[in-house]
Amino acid sequence: MSSIEQQRVILITGANKGIGFAVVKKLVQQPSINSNDIILLGSRDLKRGQDALKELGSPSNVHVLQLDTSSKESIARATNEIKQKYGGYLDVIINNAGITPKDKTVQAARETFATNYYGIKILNEHLIPLLRENGRVVNVSSRVGALTLHGISKDLQEKYTSSTLTTEQLDQLVEDFISAVDSDTIEAAGYTKEMPFLPYGVSKAALNALTRIEARQWSSAKKIFVYAVCPGYCSTDMSKHAPDSRPPELGADSILYVVNTDYNKLENGAFYRDGVQLPQIYTNDAEAREAIKRMKKLDS
Ligand code: NAP
Repeated sequence: MSSIEQQRVILITGANKGIGFAVVKKLVQQPSINSNDIILLGSRDLKRGQDALKELGSPSNVHVLQLDTSSKESIARATNEIKQKYGGYLDVIINNAGITPKDKTVQAARETFATNYYGIKILNEHLIPLLRENGRVVNVSSRVGALTLHGISKDLQEKYTSSTLTTEQLDQLVEDFISAVDSDTIEAAGYTKEMPFLPYGVSKAALNALTRIEARQWSSAKKIFVYAVCPGYCSTDMSKHAPDSRPPELGADSILYVVNTDYNKLENGAFYRDGVQLPQIYTNDAEAREAIKRMKKLDS
C-alpha cells in the first residue's frame, strides 16, 4: 500500500466558523488521529477559509477547499480538486454547511433548500462514489426537523417517514412545499403556520429522510454508512449566540460520535444527538409545545 492510501481524507463543509470549525479543531487536536490524515476545511469563501486555517495555527494536514454547497459548479470543481490534489478518495464527509434565513419569502425558502437539502444531495451524489470501504457520511441536521414533522398532517408524516420513499418522491414533497410557500397555501398543503422557521424545519426533515434513502441505496452498493446528526442548540452565529445555547464544541462531539463509533453500535440511516438515537418525529406533545414556544421568541 502506498503512503497516500494510508491517509484518511475527511471533508467538513461550512467549516470556517461555528460547529464546522469546532469539528476541524477537534480533529486536529485528537491524539488518536493519524497526523497523516488530510482534513479538508470546506469554505464557500476562500478568504474566510484561510482565516480559519490561520486561527488553527495552519496545521500542515489541514487544507482549505473552496466549496459553495448550493452551487453545482462549485461541487463539481471541488470534486475535481479532491481527485487531483488529495488522491481522489474520501473516508468521511461531514455535510455541516447550513442556513436559516429569517426572511419568509419564497426566494428565502428556495435558498434554504438549495443549501440544506439539494446541496447535500448533489454533493453526496458526487462524493459518495469517492468514499472508501467503511466510509461515513454525516448529514448535519436538527431536531427542528423532527419537531416540524410533529405538526404536519398525518398523510405528510407518513410520506416523509415511509421506508420506501425515493429521492424523486422526496424532491416532489420539497417542491410541493416551496410551491405552497409561493402561493401562501401552507395550511392547505398540510403544514402549520404555527411552526417557527418552517422552511428550515422542512429542509431538515427532508434531510433526515434523505439520510435514510442514502443509507439504503449505498449500503447495498458498498460498505459505507450514512447518519443524520443534530449538534444540539449551540452558540454560533446561527443561534445568535443565545445565552441558553451550549458551546459549539459539544455540537462537534455530537457529530464526531457517529464518525468514531463502531458501525455495529449504530443504525445506518438513523438520526442521532449526543450519541442517542432520536425519532424522526417528536413524540412528546408537551415537549413539542415547549420547544415551539422557545423558538417563536427567536423567530419574532
Ligand atoms: P453558522 O455558525 O452560521 O455556520 C454555518 C456555516 O455554513 C458557515 O461556515 C457558513 O459559511 C456555511 N455555509 C452556509 N451556506 C453555505 C453554502 N451554501 N456553502 C458552503 N458553506 C455554507 O451555523 P452553525 O450553527 O455552525 O451550523 C452548522 C450546522 O449545524 C448547520 O447545518 C445547522 O443547521 C446545524 N444546526 C445548528 C444548530 C445551532 O444551534 N447552532 C442547531 C441544530 C443544527 P459563511 O461563513 O460563508 O456564511
